[in-house]
Amino acid sequence: MGKRVSRLDPMEHAARASSQEQIRRENLSRVLRLVHSQRRVPRAEITRETGLNRSTVADLVGELVGLGLVFESEPERANQAGRPSPMVTATRRPVAVAIHPETDALTVGVVALDRTLVQRTRYPLDSPPTPSELTERAVEVIEGLRIGSESPLPVGIGVAAPGLVHPPDGAVRLSAHMGWEEVPLASLLEEATGIPTSIANNASVGALAERMFGAGRGTGDMVYLNGGPSGIGGGVIANGRPLGGADGYAGEFGHTAVNSVGRRCRCGARGCLETEVSRELLLAAFGPGLSEIPEAEEVSAAITPSNAEAVMEEARRQLAFLAISLRNIVHALNPRVIVLGGFLGTLQALDPAFLESALREQALRPSMEGLRVRGSELGKDLLMIGAAELAFEPLLADPAARSPQGGFLQAAANSRRTG
Ligand SMILES: [Zn+2]
Repeated sequence: MGKRVSRLDPMEHAARASSQEQIRRENLSRVLRLVHSQRRVPRAEITRETGLNRSTVADLVGELVGLGLVFESEPERANQAGRPSPMVTATRRPVAVAIHPETDALTVGVVALDRTLVQRTRYPLDSPPTPSELTERAVEVIEGLRIGSESPLPVGIGVAAPGLVHPPDGAVRLSAHMGWEEVPLASLLEEATGIPTSIANNASVGALAERMFGAGRGTGDMVYLNGGPSGIGGGVIANGRPLGGADGYAGEFGHTAVNSVGRRCRCGARGCLETEVSRELLLAAFGPGLSEIPEAEEVSAAITPSNAEAVMEEARRQLAFLAISLRNIVHALNPRVIVLGGFLGTLQALDPAFLESALREQALRPSMEGLRVRGSELGKDLLMIGAAELAFEPLLADPAARSPQGGFLQAAANSRRTG
């Protein structure tokens, strides 16, 4: 029997190297996600949170610095004892372009990797934007960013669209209020801008943002309801994951029934939540002079002796129907938190006790234990922050491959140009 030298064969060697490379990329992603979600974080905390050793974390942070995604600064003298640790902060140069089309306006924002909303422009409209109007505005905003060598670098576009959206195709399948049907919105934007684009339903986007940074932080079971000019949408987080259903259309609470003898809905059914709980009817109750529903925290200033009775009467009529919908949600999904966004947050703020008692009267007691019904924390920035998360996701998942420093944008643009 000959002597055997323990040695990896070339195939095995390659496999090990590639799995180590895979692990390194995954760790890079974990570190960047942590910095992005907290904006700035001591390096020691990254070590603690990831369970990686100190020198590995220092290398990974160094690599992210090289990619232009984070920077390190002098330690802050903390109150607590222990060695001060350098701070790691997300840079502002990589940005996401966030787009939120509605029936009455188009909002385009620019959000930096540290989650700062760098700019936000709302274009009021008399009628819903066409897909090509939307694309033109996006191009305008992106061109406006390219002002010098240090100008922000858009790494992605995220769209929070009303209606039934099929994220894998980047298509809006149907948005009755917008008059859109089978619109390949992500492709249109990618063709016009050369920037990778992700799209999701606006309420799903809101749910994602509130879960990560707002009223749903720390819970895995949350329902988000969004009330906008184009109706009511919903997003469900169950067991820590977005609940999309077979094709991603789950959460259309706006078209669930709350009144069997109610008004006819645009969808053809009768007594849908969004026909009974309506922004238009609430706005009308405030009287002339208001073009937008006030934010929840500004609502008391918008109530005057002349409109108080009409506003409160309409608010309670709508809250009673909202309570029916919440009862259905509580019984079907047993969430820990229900977050009310858009005008629904204002509606709740008008009489929170009324909503609470209407819901308690009709829901099963154990289902109500531990439930919180809260207004959105991110307010009017919610969909900008959420849409930006969609846009940042590929970069967060694989920073080395997707960093603007890595020439990714140029490569993406070239590949599209050459087809
Ligand atoms: Zn309906």
